[in-house]
Amino acid sequence: MTPGQRAEARIAELGITEPRDLDVDLIAMDAGMEVVYENLQGCEATLVGVGNKAIATVRRSTVRGRERFSVGHELGHWDMHRGRAFRCRVDDPDQNWASDTLLEKEADTYASHLLMPTSMFNPRVKALGTPGFREVEDLSEVFATSVLATCMRVADINTLPVILACYNARGVLRWRKAAADVPPRWWLRQQLDDDSFAYELLHNGKSHPSPGKQPAEVWFENMDADQYEMLECCMPSRAGEIMVLLYLGPKMLDARYDPHVGNRKFNQHGPRVARK
Ligand SMILES: [Zn+2]
Repeated sequence: MTPGQRAEARIAELGITEPRDLDVDLIAMDAGMEVVYENLQGCEATLVGVGNKAIATVRRSTVRGRERFSVGHELGHWDMHRGRAFRCRVDDPDQNWASDTLLEKEADTYASHLLMPTSMFNPRVKALGTPGFREVEDLSEVFATSVLATCMRVADINTLPVILACYNARGVLRWRKAAADVPPRWWLRQQLDDDSFAYELLHNGKSHPSPGKQPAEVWFENMDADQYEMLECCMPSRAGEIMVLLYLGPKMLDARYDPHVGNRKFNQHGPRVARK
């Protein structure tokens, strides 16, 4: 079983069918893991297990969704990686999703499925059409999850041609997460374009939470991007960062492999760094 399947099997075993019944502290207790909340320094959560009992210590947060994700993450370790102790940084894509630490990724996936099980999450996403940040926020209230974790899950379920990206306060790409079916030929710009809504948000504070049309060249380096249309919405995130949800237009899904982008070492602007 994959980490996601394990988490969803636990939910199914408990007979939970509604998001409001996804009480992570109770689910953890049922699995022999007690949860305590403390003002932890230097990490988001820790796990110590002895025999069939474990204690997860989770950093207090004003965002309940973050705490819940931490509990789900530690329960993932307890369920899948028993016999080891953990100190974790949870729910930070830069630290976990982008790292090579397999166990951390597994625990994140587990938490994501535990809090937003496919059977409850997918129909609600489908009903939203092309969700902007307002709709994602509503969804995050239903599941008591953070907006970030909810966006990640929307990309994960791979039912929409979506890319979630985070740009720092200087407008430089920090990380991206695309739905699996987004063609890899689409090469996201490393620096925010002046014509993007995200640029306007960063420099003029003008928010754009609902998806609006954009020429694809605003977001992608591909030479032929000016022939395509897409949707963009954005919102401010922590530490002056900008979160972006991009939806590829239908024609962009059929575009062929582009040999002119991605692996170039040089172009007219000089040396370029290939994507990691
Ligand atoms: Zn961990």
